[in-house]
Amino acid sequence: MKYLSTRDKSLRLTAAEAIKMGLSRDGGLFTPVEFPTLSEQEIQMLCQKTYQQRAAYVMGKFLDDFSDEELSAFSDAAYSADKFDTPDVAPVRQVGGQTWCLELWHGPTSAFKDMALQMLPQLLSASLRKTGEDKTACILVATSGDTGKAAMEGFADVPQTKIMVFYPRDGVSEIQKLQMVTQRGDNVGVCAVVGNFDDAQNGVKRIFSDTAIREELAGRGYFLSSANSINWGRILPQVVYYVSAYCDLMNAGAIVYGDRVNYCVPTGNFGNILACYYAKKMGTPVGKLICASNRNDVLTDFIRTGVYDRNRPFHTTMSPSMDILISSNLERLLFDLSGGNDALVRGYMEQLSRTGRYEIGAGMKAKLQDLFYGGFCGEAGTTDTIAALYADHYLIDTHTAVAANVLQQYRVETGDEGVAVFASTASPYKFCDSVLEASGEAPVSDSVEHIAQLEAVSGVKAPRRLAELKGKQPRFDGVTEKEKMEDIVLNFLR
Ligand SMILES: *Cc1c(COP(=O)(O)O)cnc(C)c1O
Repeated sequence: MKYLSTRDKSLRLTAAEAIKMGLSRDGGLFTPVEFPTLSEQEIQMLCQKTYQQRAAYVMGKFLDDFSDEELSAFSDAAYSADKFDTPDVAPVRQVGGQTWCLELWHGPTSAFKDMALQMLPQLLSASLRKTGEDKTACILVATSGDTGKAAMEGFADVPQTKIMVFYPRDGVSEIQKLQMVTQRGDNVGVCAVVGNFDDAQNGVKRIFSDTAIREELAGRGYFLSSANSINWGRILPQVVYYVSAYCDLMNAGAIVYGDRVNYCVPTGNFGNILACYYAKKMGTPVGKLICASNRNDVLTDFIRTGVYDRNRPFHTTMSPSMDILISSNLERLLFDLSGGNDALVRGYMEQLSRTGRYEIGAGMKAKLQDLFYGGFCGEAGTTDTIAALYADHYLIDTHTAVAANVLQQYRVETGDEGVAVFASTASPYKFCDSVLEASGEAPVSDSVEHIAQLEAVSGVKAPRRLAELKGKQPRFDGVTEKEKMEDIVLNFLR
């Protein structure tokens, strides 16, 4: 199967090339030329399989330049028992009645990013081999908190790779920061950026499109690649858990094949919910795609009006991984909804970078609204939802709470009470202070101590690696102005 660019559909790359490059030179995102399907028989068959087997099978549909043996080996390594703290890998859990929660945070860094970032290094290493690449891949990451850690954990000491992570200095939680600055591995680098996530992401995009830097690095034996969710190797492993959750609901007797399940996803860069859309496009019986935002509600407005407008205040919230005004992966959806009109997509993206705004046509808007529901939840709603579920003996983090809240709004507004799954994207232990406050506890002074405090009041055990953060010494303390990110990269790759 070949891959094209959302800004140039005449391009034809293999999966290995698309994964190796990350982002197309024209600024577009790699997308499969056609989408494979999953029949009822195949979904019934996957119901009998383990998560690892489901992953190898679904990914194999898109990666015909990888053998079944390779994909099974990658899957076993990525989702092994020493990395994930439950054999189900991504279990669904009934929260009450028709409501289920898809827990995506059982991996090594306690956020859903592990689902893709444990797999991406395997795909990338194999892609370097398949394309005969002899340069070292330098992965540049802009992170709103969770991607950076998960990417470093995935790439630490992987041969022929280096990884440099930029995070917004004042935009991540204390635990997230500590996770990053204590990262092990000889090939990793971490630096804070004075600014917000969009500043960090724009800096990384700027470095990617700078030909002079690319040439300089090529001379030193490096090429740049991406582990952000613009990389196809990030999106694909995420398609798997939406299919897998559907199988698990069938196995639990909550649905029979063909029943439509609504999925509600806490959204930032639009990668996770896009994967759900692709699962639906392949034939998984998904109902409404419910896009949940925090106070940064640019996507809610887009889905409701067809106007994408990033000219609005940026809010720092207690769900920092969703504090985003430019959702990069939306470009892939636009490409699809426009029937593969690369010129139109290019035009929208040019308007976005020039004016911060674009408006889609009536036909595309109708398709968008048929597929998606958009809603948002502010800080008070987030806190109330954590408290309400805590009272029901289920501890969730701030991002997950946004999804649970918006799902409720959707049900009230539409009267659709059908089976619904909300995605749980981080362990509550990554955002202890907010979760403690919401549960009515005053957090003690030191943020690392919050982990033990939350364990004591909730009776829920903290993930082992988070508990181990206590007493770890930081390895990195760099800070840069956003205009100087280039220098950091050039220094890192001396
Ligand atoms: C990254 C992240 C999100 C947003 O996911 P996108 O794929 O960027 O939309 C939501 N919650 C958590 C905890 C995250 O780390």
